[in-house]
Amino acid sequence: MEGEKKDDGKSPKKPEGKEEGAQGTQAGGAIDALAAGLSKYFTSAVKLDDVEKVLSEVTFEGVAKYLKSDKCTNVITMAGAGISTSAGIPDFRSPGSGLYDNLQKYNLPDPMAIFSIQYFIEHPEPFCHLAKELWPGHFKPTPCHYFVKQLHEKGKLLRHYTQNIDTLEHYTGLPADKIVEAHGTFRTSHCLTCQKEFSQDWIKEKIFAEETPTCDAEDCVGLVKPDIVFFGEKLPDRYFKCVEEDLKKCDLLIILGTSLSVQPFASLTGRVPTKTPRLYINLDKGNTNVDPFMMLFMGGGATLNFDDENNYRDVFKQATCDEGCYSLSDLVGWGKELRQTVEKEHKRLDAEIAEDKQKPKTAKGASK
Ligand SMILES: [Zn+2]
Repeated sequence: MEGEKKDDGKSPKKPEGKEEGAQGTQAGGAIDALAAGLSKYFTSAVKLDDVEKVLSEVTFEGVAKYLKSDKCTNVITMAGAGISTSAGIPDFRSPGSGLYDNLQKYNLPDPMAIFSIQYFIEHPEPFCHLAKELWPGHFKPTPCHYFVKQLHEKGKLLRHYTQNIDTLEHYTGLPADKIVEAHGTFRTSHCLTCQKEFSQDWIKEKIFAEETPTCDAEDCVGLVKPDIVFFGEKLPDRYFKCVEEDLKKCDLLIILGTSLSVQPFASLTGRVPTKTPRLYINLDKGNTNVDPFMMLFMGGGATLNFDDENNYRDVFKQATCDEGCYSLSDLVGWGKELRQTVEKEHKRLDAEIAEDKQKPKTAKGASK
């Protein structure tokens, strides 16, 4: 699932066991002190006079004003599970989503094994059962997804990076070349032996029929796996290629509904130019506390500095992704249009879903 076991050779790796829980301990105290020292060092190292201040004011309104201007044409959005929660998509990762609590019946050596490639090759059944259980009954993008599509329609979107595997972006009509699915996708599957590609409908049919997905190519009996990134697999090549080309061009980074705790994805915040404003829309400030390990490897650039007195570019908007995107769209003057799109598209998708429910229940059409 999460690709944090792998990196692109440039991203930092946190030492094992360096989790938030360790912060209260003695070691945690030392780490905090180190963090504070490094923060001071890096803040003073960035000579503010040398940095072009892009935002007229470092506020949500300031970001909106900038987004509206002709100077802002290469927006990158980076999204996590938070953008899909209002669509009823369960968050595969967060403890408390019930997912890991439900795994006992599979007798796994450890809960993470269900997303381990080695384990899947030997025992594909638990993953397939889980995929069936979690398969969304319908695919209805959220207002936040439609806001990303709106950025594209207004000629502002350079690329949308997502950690999500729920494919909701595609249902807004956002072109596939605008989307980078960092942790892969359920849209396609591949045979692990001969690499033959299979469609989302094909894998769904196998999963719902509780059959082990096996390749149908001649002389091949390989196991077929959805193209989501398992532990022990590298992130898609397209991710690294796009990161290399896009991030340096980014003139506004909008971070949506991710806790910024999964690497290498989270470190994208540090790969935009130093002048590029960064807007973070989330329910809380996530993992944006000063992280000394990130700082040592990234030179401090990855850390968002909302509360620093010298902050010239980082803005935090405490809101759900839908609320935050509506507010931003309103300020730019696109809000009415966005609401109309959401209403129209949801109506259309509801009709499709209702029609789908009328169909006789086959494995293919089965909805949960
Ligand atoms: Zn095959």
